[in-house]
Amino acid sequence: MKEQDNLNRERWCQSVVLAILIVLGTLVIGILYPSSDSSPPVSMLVWISIHSWIALQTLVLITPGFWAAWLLRSRLPRLWVGIGFGWMIIVPAGMLFDAIAFRWISDRFLSAKILRVATDLRGSLLAHAQWKSVAPTLLWCMGFAVVAIAVLWVSKPVARICMRHRMVAKWGVNIAGVCVCLFSLLALADWQTTANQMRSDSTRHPWVVFRIIDLDDATASEINSRLAAVSFVIPKEGIEQRKVQQRLAGLDWDSLAARDEPFPDVVVVVLESFRHEMVDAEIMPNLSRLASEGIHCRHHFSGANASNFGMFSLLNGLEAIWFEEPVRYSPLMNRLFHQAGYELGLFASHDDWRLFVMDGFLNEQQFDVFQCEPKGWSEVDKRTVLRATAFLNRTNLGDKESRSPRLAVVYLYTTHADYRSDPADAVFQPAADDSFPIPYLPAQRDAVWNRYKNCAHTVDRLIRPLLDRNRVVVVTGDHGEAFLEDGTCGHGTKLSRYQTMTPAIVYAPGIKPERMDQPTMHADLLPTLVALADLPMIDLGVFDGNPIASKRELNKSDLKERVFMIRDYLSDEALFVGPWTTSTESEGMFGIGCRVSLGDNRVRITTAISESGDTMTDFSESQSTSNKKINSQIQQEWLKKRFNRG
Ligand SMILES: [Zn+2]
Repeated sequence: MKEQDNLNRERWCQSVVLAILIVLGTLVIGILYPSSDSSPPVSMLVWISIHSWIALQTLVLITPGFWAAWLLRSRLPRLWVGIGFGWMIIVPAGMLFDAIAFRWISDRFLSAKILRVATDLRGSLLAHAQWKSVAPTLLWCMGFAVVAIAVLWVSKPVARICMRHRMVAKWGVNIAGVCVCLFSLLALADWQTTANQMRSDSTRHPWVVFRIIDLDDATASEINSRLAAVSFVIPKEGIEQRKVQQRLAGLDWDSLAARDEPFPDVVVVVLESFRHEMVDAEIMPNLSRLASEGIHCRHHFSGANASNFGMFSLLNGLEAIWFEEPVRYSPLMNRLFHQAGYELGLFASHDDWRLFVMDGFLNEQQFDVFQCEPKGWSEVDKRTVLRATAFLNRTNLGDKESRSPRLAVVYLYTTHADYRSDPADAVFQPAADDSFPIPYLPAQRDAVWNRYKNCAHTVDRLIRPLLDRNRVVVVTGDHGEAFLEDGTCGHGTKLSRYQTMTPAIVYAPGIKPERMDQPTMHADLLPTLVALADLPMIDLGVFDGNPIASKRELNKSDLKERVFMIRDYLSDEALFVGPWTTSTESEGMFGIGCRVSLGDNRVRITTAISESGDTMTDFSESQSTSNKKINSQIQQEWLKKRFNRG
């Protein structure tokens, strides 16, 4: 009997030791793998109280496991470890997965985005996964498993030691418990500071990770009410009218027949994951020279934060909300330039169009010459540029007079993660070497950024033959790329400025050099090409975009006060970009978040979004008056212009 009592006491003691080690574990994970390095600085006392609050959150979460272990300890001694420890270990495991998920997609592990990644997008993402992005996660998981087994193994001898020094252990645990509770009370008393910390470093807080409290949603609903929670209907007849317009889009045959001037050759260079900071004389001298001789759009946005929507928008002059509609299978760029007698070529260092649902418009039927290699780095890009140059320089059977005009779309891949450059171009140092992990930690960010600059330096050298000044040239990215500015690495995960903004440079022979500071978008580029090549279109209203330049002059007036929409890859969220995006009076507001679908013909405004793609939490009252203005601007400048054209 006494032996049984002793055994029970030992198991109780082991449960307590396990609980303490789990609490320490969650604190260590939060410190080793922070979700940001930008939490507001706090005093030592506040630091202690916030960490006590984290410990208390863990304790509350593991309590059911702890009591399960306690109740089962004598009847089912084996099961008590299984259920009790199993439950307890879920808390730090959840914290670790959440921290990793957060660096990828800036959202919770328990979220709709992760569900979509695990179901719909699993195939395309697995095919696209690089070893270096899988390996660090695997290493973290293996390390975690090893530590968990070690904790279980160590807890028994520690429990025995504690039993030998029973009084010390008992008082130690009691005092620690009282301290955690007292300091947690301090954290709760100053809830504003604690809430700010929880928001800025949310993966450290178990209750946020397990969605027991959702600070963002609380703030979002508050902002919603200030934004007057607008939801508006897109008129069905407006949608149908646009679809008819898209089907009928074409050139005016009479003007075409009367024309005797040849059309200019056109080159559209698309660089993967391309950031606007790269247009710099030191990083990309060839491109920045072109930017200074043409129109440099300095606030340009892709149609989305991902390749498929971005390319769709570029090839159709439409916002990406039309992606699911029939127009996707008959891109307007190809249709219009074919009608003008152009030969069209697609040259790409990338060919998995099907995985990202781009095969509907990037295929052999749409282009006269279709040359794509499996994705590769600068070696493949070199070949792609050679093929495109050969296509552009080729004459028709030696008869120069009858040579048809050419349009080449050149899609280069080198600037995609993991940002490889040719060794001779590694001029920005210190740069991360090939072994850097994805996702990387905040301390590695600057070295990865240098690596990306080196890679852009290589690409600049490669694209030089394409930037011939006798052609109409557009150079842009398919979307942007985040380097932890919004808490994430890469793209396709967040509607932040960093993932959606990419440069656009437009050149045509004789064009007046200009810097364009009004927001522009991918859907503007096709109408711009149509204007610069002087294609006689029947109805320019088919496009969502406006020409940035027409008849070799800048078209600033049409671009003023515009509102346009960019789309997220992982969710059904979208964002309205408008005058507020570049305004100094909008308190750092980047866009207005919304949910939109042409299917249920409705737009629901959600929240104001900052440039890091987060819900804005520090809106002042004065802003709420202008929110009304923002709503009416969206209705006037977007809804009316797109769907109610009278
Ligand atoms: Zn891309």
